[in-house]
Amino acid sequence: MSDEKYLGMDRHISRRDFLNGVAVTIGSSLLPAAAQAFDESTQAPEKAPGYYPPALTGMRGNHDGTFTYAHRLRDGESWNESGKPDATGETYDLVVVGAGISGLAAAYFYRKIAGDKARILILDNHDDFGGHAKRNEFRVGNRTLISHGGTMSIEHPAEYSKEARGLLVELGIDVQRFYKAYDRKLYSRIGTAMFYDRATFGDDRIVPGMGKTPWPEFLANSPLPENVRRDIVRVYTEKKNYLPGLNREQKIERLSKISYADFLTQICKLSPQALPFFQSYTNDLFTVGIDAVPAYYCYVEGDDYGAVSYPGFDGLDLGTPEDARQSEPYIFHFPDGNASIARMLVRALVPGSIPGHTMDDIVTASTDYSRLDASGSAVRIRLNSTVVHVAHIGPPQTAKEVEVAYERGGKLQTVRAKNCVLACYNTMIPYLCPELPEKQRTALSYLVKAPLVYTHVAISNWTSFHKLGIHQIVSPGSYHTLTMLDFPVSLGDYHFSSNPEEPIVLWMLRTPCQAGLPARDQNRAGRFELMATPFETFERKIREQLASMLGTAGFDPARDIHGITVNRWAHGYAFTPNPLFDPDWKEEEKPWVIGRKPFGRITIANSDAAANAETDAAIDQAYRAVHEIREIARGVILNGAAVQAA
Ligand SMILES: Cc1cc2nc3c(=O)[nH]c(=O)nc-3n(C[C@H](O)[C@H](O)[C@H](O)COP(=O)(O)OP(=O)(O)OC[C@H]3O[C@@H](n4cnc5c(N)ncnc54)[C@H](O)[C@@H]3O)c2cc1C
Repeated sequence: MSDEKYLGMDRHISRRDFLNGVAVTIGSSLLPAAAQAFDESTQAPEKAPGYYPPALTGMRGNHDGTFTYAHRLRDGESWNESGKPDATGETYDLVVVGAGISGLAAAYFYRKIAGDKARILILDNHDDFGGHAKRNEFRVGNRTLISHGGTMSIEHPAEYSKEARGLLVELGIDVQRFYKAYDRKLYSRIGTAMFYDRATFGDDRIVPGMGKTPWPEFLANSPLPENVRRDIVRVYTEKKNYLPGLNREQKIERLSKISYADFLTQICKLSPQALPFFQSYTNDLFTVGIDAVPAYYCYVEGDDYGAVSYPGFDGLDLGTPEDARQSEPYIFHFPDGNASIARMLVRALVPGSIPGHTMDDIVTASTDYSRLDASGSAVRIRLNSTVVHVAHIGPPQTAKEVEVAYERGGKLQTVRAKNCVLACYNTMIPYLCPELPEKQRTALSYLVKAPLVYTHVAISNWTSFHKLGIHQIVSPGSYHTLTMLDFPVSLGDYHFSSNPEEPIVLWMLRTPCQAGLPARDQNRAGRFELMATPFETFERKIREQLASMLGTAGFDPARDIHGITVNRWAHGYAFTPNPLFDPDWKEEEKPWVIGRKPFGRITIANSDAAANAETDAAIDQAYRAVHEIREIARGVILNGAAVQAA
C-alpha cells in the first residue's frame, strides 16, 4: 500500500481551507451547510442560513482572512490606501475592538455602569466570537463531538479576583459543578506514555507507564543509551541539595536566572545527551522549550495535566513557593473549554442569540449568528471586521468622539463612539492608533505574543489508547509534542465518550519555536514558520504521528480519522516576562503597564495588558479599562491624553 493510502491522505474527511471567510476546498460529506451558504458577495455572511463557524474544520484559529488587512498595516500600507471609507452613520456609546473574553467582558461591565440601553458595538476580525476561547464541533456518525478551539479551562478559580469571579457567578457558572461533571476516575485508572520518535531517539517506540512505573523500569524500555537512562533515573530519584551553601532566597534567585536545561546539565550534572527527553516539557505552559524557561518557573508551575514532572527540586528544600498555585484540581473545563464563558457573555449581551439560562444548557445550545448584529439591538457584535484605524475626532484632550474604521468584506467603513476599548492584540494597537505617544507605542510593541497550535482530531474510537492503558502521550521529538484524549466532562445534555468504542476528539499540541534564541525571538520565528505551513502539511504530520504512536495498538489513520481542525494561534498566549531575557523592570517601567494607559477616550484591555495569558487576566483588564472610562467621564482621569502629555 502506498504511503498516501496507508495514511489516508486520499480520504474525504471533514476539512476545509478558508480564504477571506469563503470555503475554497471542500472535501467531505460532513461539511456543514454554512460553507455552501457563505456568499462572498453579501455584506453580512453571518446572516446566511447555516452560518455556523464552530463546525468548520481545516485551518482555524487565526484563520485565513483574519490577518490580511492587519498585515498590510504592519507592512507599511496606510489604513486608507484603498480609498475613502464609507461612513455607516452609526454612533455608539462604546465601541469595543476584539470579541474575545476581554472585549465581551468589557461590554458586560460597561452595561453595568451605563445601563441596558447603552449602545455598544463589538468588532472582531474572526468569523466567530470568543477570541482564543473558541468552540470546535465535529460530526462522527450520528454524534456531535464538542471540543475547545483554544482557551481550555478555568484555571485555579479560587485565585480569581472579586470582579472575575463575580462575572462568572453572574453568568451562572458555579465551578463546584465540575467536581461532579468531570469524571476524575476514568483516566486515573490509565496513564501517560512517552513516545520516542526515530528521528530524535533512533527508534519509534511508545512506552506506557510514565510517572507511574518506577523510573529504572520505565526507562529500561526506552531506546535511550544506558548512560542517559541512568542519568535520568538519577535526577528523578536522588534527593540532593544541588545548591549547597545557598539559603532559600538565594536558591530562588539562582533558579530564576538559569534555564531549566542549564539547571539540569550545569547544576544537576545531567548528561546533555538526556536533554531531548525533557526538551518539550515546558512547551504547553511557556510556549518555548526548557532552554528558555527559568528553572524556578518549572518548580512553581509544574504541570496541570500531570503528564510530566520536573526533577531536580526535591532535595533543594525550597518549601512552598509563595507564588505557588493553590492545590485546586485541573477540572474546571466545559466541553468546549472557556468558549462557554464567551458564549454565556454573548447570551447575556445579545438576547435571543443563544437559548437557555444555565451553565448546563449552554453546552449544547446553538448560536444564532444572524442575531449578533441586529440593528435594533443595544449590543451588536460584528464579526469578519478588522479594525484598521482608531482616532479621536479632534484633539484627544478635548474630543467628544472617537472614529473607528474597519475593513469588512473588502470595504472600509467607519462608526463613531463616545468611548473605545481596545481589547485586541496589544501589539497591533500602535498600527491602529498612531496618535498614541511614542513611548506607549514602543511599549505595546514589546508585547510579542506566543504562537501555539491546538490540533483536534476526531477519531472513531479510542480502543488503541485503551489497549495501551493510556489517555495521553508525551512525544518530545515529534511534530506535536503532546496528545491527549479529550477531557472527561459530561454536562447538560452532552456526554463524554467514556466507552473506548465511542468516537472521541484527540487534542494535540504543537508549539512552534526555535530553541537557542531568546524567548520573544523564538516566538517570532515560530509564528513565521507556522504561517508558512499549509493545512496539508499538518494533516500529513498528524496522520504519520498517530500511525507511528498508535499503529501497533490497532490505530489505522486511513480508517479512524474523521475530521481534523488545526487551531492555528499565530498570535496566542500573551507575552509574559521572562527573567532570563527581560529586564527586571520597576512597576511603572513595565511595558504592559505603560502600554495600557488610557489615552483620551480610548482605554486598553486584553490579557496582553496584564502580561498574563489567563482568562481571569482578560476579565480583570476589561474591568479596569471600563472603570477608566468611568473615571475619565467623572473627571478623575480628566483625559488620558493630557495626563500622558504632561
Ligand atoms: C491556545 C490557547 C489556550 C489557552 N488556554 C487557556 C486556559 O486554558 N485557561 C486560561 O485561563 N487561559 C488560557 N489561554 C489564555 C487566553 O488568551 C485568555 O484566557 C483569554 O481568552 C484572552 O482573551 P482576550 O480577550 O484578552 O484576547 P483574545 O482572546 O486574543 O481576543 C482578542 C480578539 O481581538 C481580535 N482582534 C485583534 N486585532 C483586531 C483588529 N484589528 N480588529 C478586530 N479584532 C481584532 C482578535 O482576533 C481576537 O479575536 C489560552 C490561550 C491560547 C492562545
